[in-house]
Amino acid sequence: MIPYLPLKEINAQYSAAIGEAIDRIQKEGWYILGRECTAFEQEYAQYIGTRHCIGCGNGYDALWLIFSALKQLGRLSDGDKVLVPANTFIASALAVSNNNLRVHFVEPSDTSYVAGEKEILAAIDEQTKAVLLVHLYGQNSFSDNLARECRRRGIIIVEDNAQAHGALYGGRRTGSLGDAAAHSFYPGKNLGALGDAGAITTDDDTLARAIKEIHNYGSSTKYIHSRIGVNSRLDEIQAAVLRIKLRTLDRENEARRSVARALIEGIDNPLVAAPRIDDYTQHVFHVFALMSPRRDALKEHLAARGIETQIHYPIPLHRQECYKEYAAQHLPTAQRLAQEELSLPCHPLLAPADIKHITECVNSFKG
Ligand SMILES: *Cc1c(COP(=O)(O)O)cnc(C)c1O
Repeated sequence: MIPYLPLKEINAQYSAAIGEAIDRIQKEGWYILGRECTAFEQEYAQYIGTRHCIGCGNGYDALWLIFSALKQLGRLSDGDKVLVPANTFIASALAVSNNNLRVHFVEPSDTSYVAGEKEILAAIDEQTKAVLLVHLYGQNSFSDNLARECRRRGIIIVEDNAQAHGALYGGRRTGSLGDAAAHSFYPGKNLGALGDAGAITTDDDTLARAIKEIHNYGSSTKYIHSRIGVNSRLDEIQAAVLRIKLRTLDRENEARRSVARALIEGIDNPLVAAPRIDDYTQHVFHVFALMSPRRDALKEHLAARGIETQIHYPIPLHRQECYKEYAAQHLPTAQRLAQEELSLPCHPLLAPADIKHITECVNSFKG
């Protein structure tokens, strides 16, 4: 059996260091907003290349906190239109909706599967106040051209970097490209905690200060509350785990890239389109997404041969019941991807024999 993602084995590589850290934190007796959190925030800001990093409870909260702060600062208002790709995890859109902002779903590219410059520019209109760039599957969706056009029109760029820790645009990391970025450290992400965790990165001092208050009950001094805040903090144990795993993130991403390259080189089946990658050095392969018009049969074919796969994502957001007011929107690429996408195992511990078995089984699929 080749599991989609053997999290237990991946984390076992760090178990000695994690055990020591948990023991140390337990003995120190300071469990929330302490030294580990501050150290992680500094190290992650340096890694991403931003002035600020604020840890928080999870990736959804990171997104929600950014939009909430933008509203509290008066940069966005109730009902403002925010562009969101139709093919992403629902958290991206919910963070917008739950701030009383208006989601507008955008078609992804039918070759890279992200909504980038071309798709976003085609969707921007007079009402657009912000865009949420989702670096889907581990690949950048930002461009300088897009940023220039957004700046000219006063449109805010927020990045959803949940799937792309370590990915690059030119020499710059995703998460440092827009006005602010949300990161999820959900256990299955490239940089994964042992539970829920997230962070916001930004170069904007005012925005960082507002988020730092909102995520801790609207307070920067105990019992003084300057804003309507929430409780979404990164706890000490998760921060310590993330500090340990951050040290090897680049190496793990490099291993994912070589696995992805071997899969792409091995796949040869007219019923299957392997991902088309412009530049391997920039992609971190959170998801290895192939497309097949016979996706469901291919999934069964692989399962019968001991290969576990996943689908990212089976229903586009405009066809979810919770967004039924968008159901009539015509987004054929998002719809096609939902029907054809299949995610193969692609992680740092995938052995050459497993890669060979996976490509042979993909190639033996006859529909
Ligand atoms: C995982 C994910 C999130 C949400 O992160 P959580 O930590 O699970 O809240 C948001 N956006 C995208 C694109 C994701 O993949």
